[in-house]
Amino acid sequence: MEKKIIIAIDGFSSCGKSTLAKAMAKALEYVFVDTGAMYRAIALYFLRNNIPFNDTASIEALKAIELRFKYNSASQKSDMYLNGENVEQEIRAMQVSQKVSEVASIPAVRVFAVAQQQAMGIDKGIVMDGRDIGTVVFPNAELKLFVTADPAIRLERRYQELLKTNPSILKEEVSANLQQRDLMDSTRAHSPLRQADDALVLDNTNLDRVQQFELAMQWAMDKIKAS
Ligand code: C5P
Repeated sequence: MEKKIIIAIDGFSSCGKSTLAKAMAKALEYVFVDTGAMYRAIALYFLRNNIPFNDTASIEALKAIELRFKYNSASQKSDMYLNGENVEQEIRAMQVSQKVSEVASIPAVRVFAVAQQQAMGIDKGIVMDGRDIGTVVFPNAELKLFVTADPAIRLERRYQELLKTNPSILKEEVSANLQQRDLMDSTRAHSPLRQADDALVLDNTNLDRVQQFELAMQWAMDKIKAS
């Protein structure tokens, strides 16, 4: 039997990381984990309960947070549950997107999320996407991908995606949010977004979903055979 590996996928916002990770996990029959959903659910809890964005308040608040992914057969993906409530739709709203990077920069929040992410990978056979997966969560992952795309393409993709649920959303609003999150994510003191030294760069500016998937799967199969 083929050995299972860990696939870590990192990159800036709206590069198509989750789409790729989900497709790879399905093809390999691996577990897919969207770590952004975890930070979004924590941010939602903080916003709902007016938790101050600092380490001391977070340590206390996190005691009351239970995060869980549950498979949704209709959408064929896992939904994020916060304390038993399905928050999959709500965590994608702009109010959460505007605050999530601030919440994700709090050290206690990172410790809380990373511990759970590492536990999910204990048996390998996992595809995880985020910002610090190849650098902090799984520094020994067999395959690390750093996904990039032209900023204008990323903006257009995210704008089209958000339009589906919010027809009045403005492109300028989406653009400002992407820029703000990218800046905060790559300059924060704890686990900033950066390319791991041994990551393979996947620039999908001129690739469609199928081409990107095929290239990444080729790399994954090479690593599986070599492991
Ligand atoms: O992946 P997504 O864009 O949904 O992530 C939302 C936010 O969560 C990111 O902008 C980032 O601030 C944070 N995040 C993080 N580390 C991860 C995944 C997401 O800090 N591993």
